[in-house]
Amino acid sequence: MFRSPFSPAYPREQHAGGRLTVDLAALAGNWRKLRDLGQPAQCAAVVKGDGYGIGLDHAANTLWNAGCGTFFVALPEEGMRLREVLPGATIYVLNGLFRGAEADYREAKLIPVLGSPGEIEDWGRFARSVERELPAALHVDTGMNRLGLTLAEAESFAGVEMEPGVAPQLLISHLACADAPGHPLNRRQLEAFAEARALFPDLPASLANSAGVLSGPDYHFDLLRPGIALYGGRAQNDGNNPMAPVVTLEARVLQVRDVTPEESVGYGAVGCLDKPGRVAIVSVGYADGLLRGAGESELSAGAAGWIAGHRLPYVGRVSMDLIALDVTSVPEQVVERGSWIELFGSHIAIDEVAGAAGTIGYELLTDLSRRYARRYVGLDLR
Ligand SMILES: *Cc1c(COP(=O)(O)O)cnc(C)c1O
Repeated sequence: MFRSPFSPAYPREQHAGGRLTVDLAALAGNWRKLRDLGQPAQCAAVVKGDGYGIGLDHAANTLWNAGCGTFFVALPEEGMRLREVLPGATIYVLNGLFRGAEADYREAKLIPVLGSPGEIEDWGRFARSVERELPAALHVDTGMNRLGLTLAEAESFAGVEMEPGVAPQLLISHLACADAPGHPLNRRQLEAFAEARALFPDLPASLANSAGVLSGPDYHFDLLRPGIALYGGRAQNDGNNPMAPVVTLEARVLQVRDVTPEESVGYGAVGCLDKPGRVAIVSVGYADGLLRGAGESELSAGAAGWIAGHRLPYVGRVSMDLIALDVTSVPEQVVERGSWIELFGSHIAIDEVAGAAGTIGYELLTDLSRRYARRYVGLDLR
């Protein structure tokens, strides 16, 4: 049966100011690339935040079909949604056990990542009340001081049966600075993780986020947990991004205007051309998650768009629903009312736009608006 490649949860292209194209073949390819890099470790996938903004069900189905069987979400709500999509997957909840939701974890076969003594006790008490052993992952902090048992707490649970009813099956920790390969905290966390593993020698171990996978085999252990790199984002700050872009955002041109150097463009009158030229006004703004900080300001030159081989610098500030781009260099027939200008994708890296806004690609992806028309291309074998 024919299925429209446009998802019905989002507006149709003719009604939308921006259109998003999600390349599921690139997503699958990125997963395989990380899996191959990490072999013999197993490769899981992190799909929290609605699959880093691209859509949980499309991301999950694509990754499952590529061969991924283990998934990490942040919240029980995300886990329950994922369970409906993938009845056979192993699903870990990174933010742990939420009090009062224990029965829902069990019902949806969600495995909480337990990072404090109280959570371990609650899971054990619940397990005993339903007369079952229930699986869990253990999170040990190795230097990030965000979630996880201290090494001393971990020690108190090691050796003996940790908590009746709790059946641990994975030991995890998380890297704070793997995006900066030379940072000394990376080595220190590796050493602390070795101590944690010695406490639970029978448990498979998982340390690497995307940047950890790219940091080399010392960081791989038994299970990889990449997120951002699957979606084409840059995981490490130095060198080239080896991943294929997954998300392309294009904005609809509403008008093309002639502007002289004596005039200004947009709010605050901060945008000016240095010679007579043309600006295209496109129908995407910060209400679409295209961050206001990506515009031109006293602090930053601003990001750029792209069309037909031409880079198009932003002119002035990003408005709620509009951006102005300098199209002086582009032949008139190439950019006109109704044309589409790439704001990020294969010509403008998402991390370049994020960098202009003083943030990271993760934030741009997870802010992707429901106002965009969305098109899923590449394999999606549902
Ligand atoms: C988000 C997250 C990941 C994935 O991180 P990326 O940098 O997106 O690869 C892995 N592990 C934990 C604990 C996380 O919170």
